[in-house]
Amino acid sequence: MRVLILGGGVIGASIAYHLAVRGADVVIVERSAIGCAASGKSGGFLALDWCDDTPLMHLARRSFTLHAELADALSGEWSYRRMTTYAGTLGRSPTRAPRGIGPGWISSYVAIDGRLGSVGTTAQVHPAAFTIGMMRAAEERGARMLLGQATGLLRHGDDVVGVQIEEERLEGDAVVIAMGPWSILATLWLPLPPVYGLKGHSLVFQTGTTFPPEALFLEYAEPVGSMLSLEVFPRADGTTYVCGISSESPSPMDPDLVAPDDSAIDRLKALCDRMSPDLARAPVLASQACYRPITADGLPLIGAIPGACGAYIATGHSVWGILNAPATGEAIAELILDGAATTVDLAPFNPARLAAVDPKRVEVARRLRC
Ligand SMILES: Cc1cc2nc3c(=O)[nH]c(=O)nc-3n(C[C@H](O)[C@H](O)[C@H](O)COP(=O)(O)OP(=O)(O)OC[C@H]3O[C@@H](n4cnc5c(N)ncnc54)[C@H](O)[C@@H]3O)c2cc1C
Repeated sequence: MRVLILGGGVIGASIAYHLAVRGADVVIVERSAIGCAASGKSGGFLALDWCDDTPLMHLARRSFTLHAELADALSGEWSYRRMTTYAGTLGRSPTRAPRGIGPGWISSYVAIDGRLGSVGTTAQVHPAAFTIGMMRAAEERGARMLLGQATGLLRHGDDVVGVQIEEERLEGDAVVIAMGPWSILATLWLPLPPVYGLKGHSLVFQTGTTFPPEALFLEYAEPVGSMLSLEVFPRADGTTYVCGISSESPSPMDPDLVAPDDSAIDRLKALCDRMSPDLARAPVLASQACYRPITADGLPLIGAIPGACGAYIATGHSVWGILNAPATGEAIAELILDGAATTVDLAPFNPARLAAVDPKRVEVARRLRC
Protein backbone atom coordinates (compact mmCIF):
# COMPACT_ATOMS: atom_id res chain seq x y z
CA MET A 1 0.00 0.00 0.00
CA ARG A 2 1.32 3.45 -0.91
CA VAL A 3 0.69 6.24 1.60
CA LEU A 4 1.35 9.88 0.77
CA ILE A 5 1.99 12.11 3.79
CA LEU A 6 1.68 15.86 3.23
CA GLY A 7 4.02 17.75 5.58
CA GLY A 8 7.41 16.79 7.00
CA GLY A 9 7.01 18.11 10.53
CA VAL A 10 7.23 15.89 13.60
CA ILE A 11 3.73 14.52 12.98
CA GLY A 12 4.35 13.61 9.33
CA ALA A 13 7.78 12.10 10.11
CA SER A 14 6.39 10.01 12.98
CA ILE A 15 3.56 8.71 10.81
CA ALA A 16 6.11 7.88 8.09
CA TYR A 17 8.23 5.94 10.57
CA HIS A 18 5.37 3.84 11.96
CA LEU A 19 4.00 3.08 8.49
CA ALA A 20 7.44 2.17 7.14
CA VAL A 21 8.09 -0.15 10.11
CA ARG A 22 4.96 -2.01 9.07
CA GLY A 23 6.05 -2.31 5.45
CA ALA A 24 3.97 0.41 3.77
CA ASP A 25 5.36 2.27 0.76
CA VAL A 26 5.64 5.82 2.15
CA VAL A 27 6.25 9.16 0.45
CA ILE A 28 6.43 12.39 2.47
CA VAL A 29 5.68 15.50 0.43
CA GLU A 30 7.38 18.47 2.11
CA ARG A 31 7.29 22.02 0.81
CA SER A 32 10.53 23.27 2.38
CA ALA A 33 12.61 20.97 4.64
CA ILE A 34 12.00 18.28 7.25
CA GLY A 35 11.41 19.97 10.62
CA CYS A 36 11.64 23.49 9.16
CA ALA A 37 8.62 24.87 11.07
CA ALA A 38 7.42 24.46 14.69
CA SER A 39 8.81 20.94 14.83
CA GLY A 40 12.32 22.31 14.52
CA LYS A 41 11.85 25.40 16.68
CA SER A 42 9.88 24.16 19.67
CA GLY A 43 10.99 23.34 23.18
CA GLY A 44 11.00 19.55 22.86
CA PHE A 45 9.70 19.17 26.42
CA LEU A 46 7.89 15.90 27.27
CA ALA A 47 5.65 15.08 30.22
CA LEU A 48 4.05 11.80 31.23
CA ASP A 49 1.10 13.02 33.26
CA TRP A 50 0.48 16.70 32.49
CA CYS A 51 -2.46 15.79 30.24
CA ASP A 52 -4.03 13.43 32.78
CA ASP A 53 -7.80 13.79 33.23
CA THR A 54 -8.08 15.40 29.79
CA PRO A 55 -8.95 13.73 26.43
CA LEU A 56 -5.20 13.77 25.64
CA MET A 57 -4.26 11.54 28.58
CA HIS A 58 -3.84 8.21 26.76
CA LEU A 59 -2.17 9.78 23.72
CA ALA A 60 0.32 11.59 25.97
CA ARG A 61 1.07 8.62 28.23
CA ARG A 62 1.56 6.28 25.26
CA SER A 63 3.77 8.88 23.55
CA PHE A 64 5.92 9.42 26.64
CA THR A 65 6.60 5.67 26.75
CA LEU A 66 7.28 5.52 23.01
CA HIS A 67 9.77 8.41 23.21
CA ALA A 68 11.88 6.42 25.67
CA GLU A 69 11.59 3.25 23.57
CA LEU A 70 12.47 5.04 20.31
CA ALA A 71 15.55 6.71 21.80
CA ASP A 72 16.68 3.30 23.03
CA ALA A 73 15.75 1.15 20.02
CA LEU A 74 17.06 3.54 17.35
CA SER A 75 20.05 4.83 19.38
CA GLY A 76 18.49 8.19 18.63
CA GLU A 77 20.83 11.11 18.19
CA TRP A 78 18.22 13.60 19.31
CA SER A 79 19.48 14.17 22.88
CA TYR A 80 16.61 12.41 24.65
CA ARG A 81 17.07 12.74 28.40
CA ARG A 82 15.04 12.77 31.57
CA MET A 83 14.70 16.08 33.45
CA THR A 84 13.68 17.50 36.77
CA THR A 85 11.21 20.34 36.24
CA TYR A 86 10.58 23.35 38.45
CA ALA A 87 7.94 26.07 38.63
CA GLY A 88 8.81 29.58 39.67
CA THR A 89 8.33 33.30 39.29
CA LEU A 90 10.51 35.88 37.61
CA GLY A 91 10.19 39.12 39.56
CA ARG A 92 10.82 42.74 38.70
CA SER A 93 13.11 43.02 41.71
CA PRO A 94 15.41 40.51 43.46
CA THR A 95 13.78 38.10 45.89
CA ARG A 96 15.10 37.80 49.44
CA ALA A 97 13.66 34.32 50.02
CA PRO A 98 16.34 31.66 50.61
CA ARG A 99 16.50 29.18 47.75
CA GLY A 100 16.33 25.53 48.76
CA ILE A 101 15.71 23.90 45.39
CA GLY A 102 16.06 24.70 41.69
CA PRO A 103 18.86 25.31 39.19
CA GLY A 104 22.02 26.94 40.49
CA TRP A 105 22.41 29.24 37.48
CA ILE A 106 19.32 31.41 38.03
CA SER A 107 19.56 34.96 39.37
CA SER A 108 18.06 36.38 42.54
CA TYR A 109 15.13 37.69 40.43
CA VAL A 110 13.82 34.11 40.24
CA ALA A 111 11.86 32.51 43.07
CA ILE A 112 11.35 28.74 42.78
CA ASP A 113 7.85 27.76 43.96
CA GLY A 114 8.13 23.99 43.72
CA ARG A 115 8.87 20.92 41.65
CA LEU A 116 6.54 20.17 38.71
CA GLY A 117 8.11 16.94 37.53
CA SER A 118 10.80 14.38 38.26
CA VAL A 119 13.06 12.30 36.03
CA GLY A 120 10.27 9.74 36.12
CA THR A 121 7.69 12.10 34.65
CA THR A 122 9.47 14.75 32.55
CA ALA A 123 12.01 14.51 29.72
CA GLN A 124 13.16 16.30 26.57
CA VAL A 125 14.34 15.79 23.02
CA HIS A 126 16.03 18.14 20.60
CA PRO A 127 12.92 18.60 18.42
CA ALA A 128 14.61 19.23 15.05
CA ALA A 129 16.96 16.28 15.59
CA PHE A 130 14.05 14.08 16.68
CA THR A 131 11.99 14.99 13.59
CA ILE A 132 14.95 14.39 11.26
CA GLY A 133 15.76 11.18 13.19
CA MET A 134 12.23 9.86 12.63
CA MET A 135 12.47 10.67 8.93
CA ARG A 136 15.88 8.96 8.64
CA ALA A 137 14.58 5.88 10.43
CA ALA A 138 11.63 5.83 8.03
CA GLU A 139 13.97 6.21 5.04
CA GLU A 140 16.08 3.29 6.27
CA ARG A 141 12.86 1.27 6.04
CA GLY A 142 12.08 2.39 2.50
CA ALA A 143 10.24 5.71 2.90
CA ARG A 144 11.24 8.66 0.75
CA MET A 145 10.81 12.42 0.75
CA LEU A 146 9.62 14.44 -2.19
CA LEU A 147 10.37 18.16 -2.12
CA GLY A 148 7.32 20.01 -3.37
CA GLN A 149 4.19 21.89 -2.44
CA ALA A 150 0.95 19.93 -2.23
CA THR A 151 -1.61 22.03 -4.11
CA GLY A 152 -4.60 19.70 -4.35
CA LEU A 153 -5.90 16.16 -4.21
CA LEU A 154 -6.61 13.69 -6.99
CA ARG A 155 -10.19 12.43 -6.70
CA HIS A 156 -12.10 9.55 -8.21
CA GLY A 157 -15.65 10.05 -7.01
CA ASP A 158 -15.57 9.93 -3.22
CA ASP A 159 -12.13 8.30 -3.26
CA VAL A 160 -8.93 10.28 -2.77
CA VAL A 161 -6.41 8.64 -5.09
CA GLY A 162 -3.40 10.92 -4.93
CA VAL A 163 -1.96 14.39 -4.61
CA GLN A 164 -1.32 17.26 -6.97
CA ILE A 165 2.18 18.63 -6.34
CA GLU A 166 2.27 21.81 -8.37
CA GLU A 167 2.45 20.44 -11.96
CA GLU A 168 3.05 16.84 -10.90
CA ARG A 169 0.46 14.16 -10.06
CA LEU A 170 1.37 11.52 -7.51
CA GLU A 171 -0.93 8.56 -7.01
CA GLY A 172 -1.41 6.73 -3.73
CA ASP A 173 -3.84 4.50 -1.84
CA ALA A 174 -4.08 6.83 1.14
CA VAL A 175 -3.24 10.49 1.82
CA VAL A 176 -2.49 11.97 5.25
CA ILE A 177 -2.69 15.72 5.78
CA ALA A 178 -0.07 16.71 8.35
CA MET A 179 0.83 20.25 7.30
CA GLY A 180 0.61 21.82 10.76
CA PRO A 181 -1.08 25.24 10.61
CA TRP A 182 -0.93 25.09 6.80
CA SER A 183 -3.44 22.23 6.95
CA ILE A 184 -5.96 25.09 6.59
CA LEU A 185 -5.17 24.80 2.87
CA ALA A 186 -6.77 21.34 2.87
CA THR A 187 -10.14 22.89 3.80
CA LEU A 188 -10.20 24.02 0.14
CA TRP A 189 -10.04 20.36 -0.89
CA LEU A 190 -12.08 18.51 1.74
CA PRO A 191 -14.76 19.20 4.38
CA LEU A 192 -12.48 19.93 7.33
CA PRO A 193 -12.63 22.15 10.41
CA PRO A 194 -10.22 25.09 10.55
CA VAL A 195 -6.68 24.84 11.88
CA TYR A 196 -5.10 28.06 13.11
CA GLY A 197 -1.51 29.03 13.83
CA LEU A 198 -0.44 30.73 17.07
CA LYS A 199 2.94 32.42 16.82
CA GLY A 200 5.55 31.80 19.52
CA HIS A 201 9.04 33.29 19.89
CA SER A 202 12.15 31.62 21.20
CA LEU A 203 15.87 32.12 21.77
CA VAL A 204 18.59 29.50 21.76
CA PHE A 205 21.74 30.29 23.79
CA GLN A 206 25.16 28.66 23.66
CA THR A 207 25.46 28.05 27.40
CA GLY A 208 27.96 25.18 27.35
CA THR A 209 27.46 21.83 29.03
CA THR A 210 27.40 23.17 32.59
CA PHE A 211 23.63 23.47 32.92
CA PRO A 212 22.19 20.31 34.47
CA PRO A 213 19.00 18.67 33.08
CA GLU A 214 16.57 20.93 34.91
CA ALA A 215 13.64 22.58 33.14
CA LEU A 216 12.00 25.76 34.39
CA PHE A 217 8.47 27.10 33.93
CA LEU A 218 8.36 30.71 35.10
CA GLU A 219 5.49 33.16 35.46
CA TYR A 220 6.24 36.83 34.92
CA ALA A 221 3.77 39.64 35.66
CA GLU A 222 4.22 42.37 33.06
CA PRO A 223 4.08 45.96 34.34
CA VAL A 224 0.84 46.49 32.35
CA GLY A 225 -0.90 43.61 34.09
CA SER A 226 -0.77 40.61 31.75
CA MET A 227 1.10 37.41 32.68
CA LEU A 228 3.82 35.79 30.60
CA SER A 229 4.76 32.12 30.86
CA LEU A 230 8.42 31.47 30.15
CA GLU A 231 9.78 27.99 29.45
CA VAL A 232 13.50 27.27 29.85
CA PHE A 233 15.08 24.02 28.67
CA PRO A 234 18.84 23.43 28.94
CA ARG A 235 19.77 20.80 26.36
CA ALA A 236 22.33 18.03 26.32
CA ASP A 237 24.13 19.67 23.37
CA GLY A 238 25.24 22.63 25.49
CA THR A 239 22.50 25.00 24.36
CA THR A 240 19.59 26.43 26.33
CA TYR A 241 16.19 27.09 24.74
CA VAL A 242 13.83 29.77 26.10
CA CYS A 243 10.37 30.55 24.75
CA GLY A 244 7.53 32.61 26.03
CA ILE A 245 6.15 35.46 23.96
CA SER A 246 3.19 34.73 21.68
CA SER A 247 1.53 36.97 19.15
CA GLU A 248 -1.67 36.87 17.13
CA SER A 249 -0.06 37.80 13.80
CA PRO A 250 -1.24 35.45 11.01
CA SER A 251 1.13 32.91 9.50
CA PRO A 252 2.38 33.53 5.96
CA MET A 253 1.26 30.88 3.45
CA ASP A 254 4.93 30.03 2.81
CA PRO A 255 6.57 28.38 5.88
CA ASP A 256 9.95 29.80 4.82
CA LEU A 257 8.65 33.36 5.33
CA VAL A 258 7.96 32.94 9.07
CA ALA A 259 10.09 35.53 10.89
CA PRO A 260 10.25 36.69 14.52
CA ASP A 261 8.95 40.11 15.61
CA ASP A 262 11.94 42.22 16.69
CA SER A 263 10.08 43.67 19.67
CA ALA A 264 9.12 40.21 20.98
CA ILE A 265 12.71 38.98 20.66
CA ASP A 266 14.03 42.10 22.45
CA ARG A 267 11.57 41.59 25.33
CA LEU A 268 12.42 37.90 25.60
CA LYS A 269 16.16 38.65 25.63
CA ALA A 270 15.71 41.28 28.36
CA LEU A 271 13.81 38.75 30.50
CA CYS A 272 16.53 36.14 29.95
CA ASP A 273 19.19 38.68 31.01
CA ARG A 274 17.29 39.19 34.23
CA MET A 275 16.67 35.47 34.74
CA SER A 276 20.32 34.44 34.73
CA PRO A 277 23.75 36.06 34.46
CA ASP A 278 24.83 32.97 32.49
CA LEU A 279 22.12 33.60 29.90
CA ALA A 280 22.95 37.32 29.84
CA ARG A 281 26.52 36.64 28.71
CA ALA A 282 25.86 33.56 26.53
CA PRO A 283 25.98 33.99 22.73
CA VAL A 284 22.55 33.81 21.08
CA LEU A 285 22.56 31.07 18.43
CA ALA A 286 18.98 31.56 17.20
CA SER A 287 16.26 34.22 17.50
CA GLN A 288 13.21 32.60 15.97
CA ALA A 289 9.46 32.23 15.71
CA CYS A 290 7.11 29.45 14.68
CA TYR A 291 3.39 28.67 14.62
CA ARG A 292 1.82 25.94 16.70
CA PRO A 293 -1.22 24.38 15.00
CA ILE A 294 -4.42 24.78 17.02
CA THR A 295 -8.09 23.89 16.57
CA ALA A 296 -11.29 25.51 17.84
CA ASP A 297 -11.56 23.18 20.85
CA GLY A 298 -7.83 22.84 21.54
CA LEU A 299 -7.69 19.13 20.68
CA PRO A 300 -5.89 17.69 17.66
CA LEU A 301 -7.62 16.35 14.55
CA ILE A 302 -6.51 12.73 14.15
CA GLY A 303 -8.46 10.32 11.99
CA ALA A 304 -10.21 9.56 8.73
CA ILE A 305 -11.78 12.51 6.93
CA PRO A 306 -15.53 12.02 6.52
CA GLY A 307 -16.82 11.72 2.96
CA ALA A 308 -13.37 11.21 1.43
CA CYS A 309 -12.33 7.57 1.30
CA GLY A 310 -8.56 7.17 1.69
CA ALA A 311 -7.99 10.64 3.23
CA TYR A 312 -6.73 11.15 6.79
CA ILE A 313 -5.62 14.08 8.90
CA ALA A 314 -3.22 14.47 11.84
CA THR A 315 -2.68 18.02 13.03
CA GLY A 316 -3.66 20.62 15.63
CA HIS A 317 -1.41 19.26 18.38
CA SER A 318 -0.90 22.75 19.82
CA VAL A 319 1.70 22.85 22.64
CA TRP A 320 2.13 19.06 22.74
CA GLY A 321 3.07 18.12 19.18
CA ILE A 322 6.57 16.88 19.97
CA LEU A 323 5.29 14.88 22.93
CA ASN A 324 2.30 13.39 21.12
CA ALA A 325 3.90 12.65 17.74
CA PRO A 326 4.92 9.01 18.42
CA ALA A 327 1.49 7.74 19.50
CA THR A 328 -0.16 9.80 16.75
CA GLY A 329 2.10 8.11 14.18
CA GLU A 330 1.45 4.69 15.63
CA ALA A 331 -2.33 5.20 15.71
CA ILE A 332 -2.56 6.61 12.16
CA ALA A 333 -0.52 3.64 10.89
CA GLU A 334 -2.98 1.28 12.59
CA LEU A 335 -5.96 3.17 11.23
CA ILE A 336 -4.68 3.03 7.65
CA LEU A 337 -3.28 -0.50 7.66
CA ASP A 338 -5.70 -2.28 10.03
CA GLY A 339 -8.84 -0.16 9.64
CA ALA A 340 -8.83 0.97 13.30
CA ALA A 341 -6.41 2.30 15.91
CA THR A 342 -5.98 -0.04 18.86
CA THR A 343 -3.16 1.50 20.91
CA VAL A 344 -5.02 4.78 21.51
CA ASP A 345 -8.73 5.63 21.28
CA LEU A 346 -8.95 8.29 18.56
CA ALA A 347 -12.63 9.11 19.19
CA PRO A 348 -11.91 12.44 21.01
CA PHE A 349 -9.87 13.58 18.00
CA ASN A 350 -12.38 12.67 15.28
CA PRO A 351 -12.21 15.51 12.70
CA ALA A 352 -16.00 15.26 12.24
CA ARG A 353 -16.63 16.60 15.77
CA LEU A 354 -16.08 20.20 14.57
CA ALA A 355 -17.93 22.09 11.85
CA ALA A 356 -16.21 22.22 8.47
CA VAL A 357 -14.97 25.53 7.10
CA ASP A 358 -16.57 27.22 4.11
CA PRO A 359 -13.80 26.86 1.46
CA LYS A 360 -14.68 30.26 -0.06
CA ARG A 361 -13.58 32.02 3.14
CA VAL A 362 -10.24 30.22 3.10
CA GLU A 363 -9.64 31.14 -0.53
CA VAL A 364 -10.26 34.84 0.19
CA ALA A 365 -7.91 34.77 3.19
CA ARG A 366 -5.27 32.97 1.15
CA ARG A 367 -5.39 35.55 -1.63
CA LEU A 368 -5.14 38.40 0.87
CA ARG A 369 -2.01 36.90 2.40
CA CYS A 370 -0.19 35.86 -0.80
C1 LIG B 1 7.32 28.23 20.78
C2 LIG B 1 6.81 26.80 20.76
C3 LIG B 1 7.29 25.88 21.70
C4 LIG B 1 6.80 24.57 21.73
N1 LIG B 1 7.27 23.68 22.66
C5 LIG B 1 6.80 22.40 22.67
C6 LIG B 1 7.30 21.47 23.64
O1 LIG B 1 8.17 21.80 24.47
N2 LIG B 1 6.80 20.19 23.63
C7 LIG B 1 5.85 19.79 22.72
O2 LIG B 1 5.41 18.64 22.76
N3 LIG B 1 5.39 20.66 21.76
C8 LIG B 1 5.84 21.94 21.72
N4 LIG B 1 5.36 22.84 20.80
C9 LIG B 1 4.34 22.39 19.83
C10 LIG B 1 4.96 21.64 18.64
O3 LIG B 1 6.11 22.31 18.18
C11 LIG B 1 3.94 21.51 17.51
O4 LIG B 1 2.71 21.00 18.00
C12 LIG B 1 4.44 20.56 16.42
O5 LIG B 1 5.75 20.91 16.02
C13 LIG B 1 3.52 20.56 15.23
O6 LIG B 1 4.06 19.66 14.29
P1 LIG B 1 3.40 19.44 12.87
O7 LIG B 1 4.17 18.36 12.21
O8 LIG B 1 1.93 19.26 13.05
O9 LIG B 1 3.54 20.84 12.11
P2 LIG B 1 4.79 21.65 11.56
O10 LIG B 1 6.01 21.46 12.37
O11 LIG B 1 4.30 23.04 11.35
O12 LIG B 1 5.07 20.97 10.15
C14 LIG B 1 4.23 21.17 9.04
C15 LIG B 1 5.06 20.94 7.79
O13 LIG B 1 4.20 21.00 6.64
C16 LIG B 1 4.92 21.62 5.59
N5 LIG B 1 3.96 22.15 4.62
C17 LIG B 1 3.16 23.24 4.75
N6 LIG B 1 2.41 23.41 3.66
C18 LIG B 1 2.75 22.39 2.79
C19 LIG B 1 2.31 22.01 1.50
N7 LIG B 1 1.35 22.71 0.84
N8 LIG B 1 2.86 20.92 0.92
C20 LIG B 1 3.83 20.19 1.56
N9 LIG B 1 4.27 20.51 2.80
C21 LIG B 1 3.74 21.59 3.40
C22 LIG B 1 5.73 22.71 6.30
O14 LIG B 1 6.83 23.13 5.50
C23 LIG B 1 6.15 21.99 7.59
O15 LIG B 1 7.40 21.34 7.44
C24 LIG B 1 5.83 24.16 20.77
C25 LIG B 1 5.38 25.07 19.80
C26 LIG B 1 5.85 26.38 19.80
C27 LIG B 1 5.34 27.33 18.76
